[in-house]
Amino acid sequence: MIAIDGPAGAGKSTVARQVAERLGYMYVDTGAMYRAMALAMLRARVPLEDPAAVERCAAEVPFEVDVSSGITRVFLQGEDVTGQIRTPEVSRIVSAVAAVPGVRRRLVKLQRRLAERGGIVMDGRDIGTVVLPGADVKIFLTASLEERARRRWREWWQAGRTDDMEDVRRSLEERDRLDSARDESPLRVAPDAVVIDTTGESIERVVARILRICRGRLDRCSTE
Ligand code: C5P
Repeated sequence: MIAIDGPAGAGKSTVARQVAERLGYMYVDTGAMYRAMALAMLRARVPLEDPAAVERCAAEVPFEVDVSSGITRVFLQGEDVTGQIRTPEVSRIVSAVAAVPGVRRRLVKLQRRLAERGGIVMDGRDIGTVVLPGADVKIFLTASLEERARRRWREWWQAGRTDDMEDVRRSLEERDRLDSARDESPLRVAPDAVVIDTTGESIERVVARILRICRGRLDRCSTE
């Protein structure tokens, strides 16, 4: 079990997907699950200032996830909403939704079930600390706020969006603040995690470094 945590835009999903591919492991993007829940709240017009209503919606909405294709596909009421969870509306509210304990309870249970058989790379905010505290390898990926904003802006620009760089930076900063300040499973570096600062680093080098850490861990396991 490989846990990859870190702030928004640190490159977790790109790196985690490539590590999983190289190892022939399953990749799970837990952020997609929180985003699907946020979309469910928007669709049902749930008032976010009412945590009981948020918990009720999270407990009742028919929600499924499929990780078999290497992409984390999320479904609400049987509809594949994977293409609808990366909008600015979802990004604006997802951290507030993710801070509600009942939402986390439902998703953490599902995430642990997905990891039961091992052979998994899971990325998120609380994987090494809460979801899979016994993970064999824990990585905390980070990068400067400026670099993360630049990467996110470039990604969106390539997808045809024309967001203002300063707005992108502010929205990442705000999400980090909320994710780190919440009471329930805040974004933290696990004590046994390897911290990798990807500022100025290429994806290839970061992936290679994580694979080296994984191999070292496997070698140690086989001699223990
Ligand atoms: O990874 P991504 O940026 O798509 O995650 C969206 C949001 O989902 C995060 O900002 C955070 O609020 C929430 N999240 C979380 N715990 C996780 C994964 C994501 O709280 N394990």
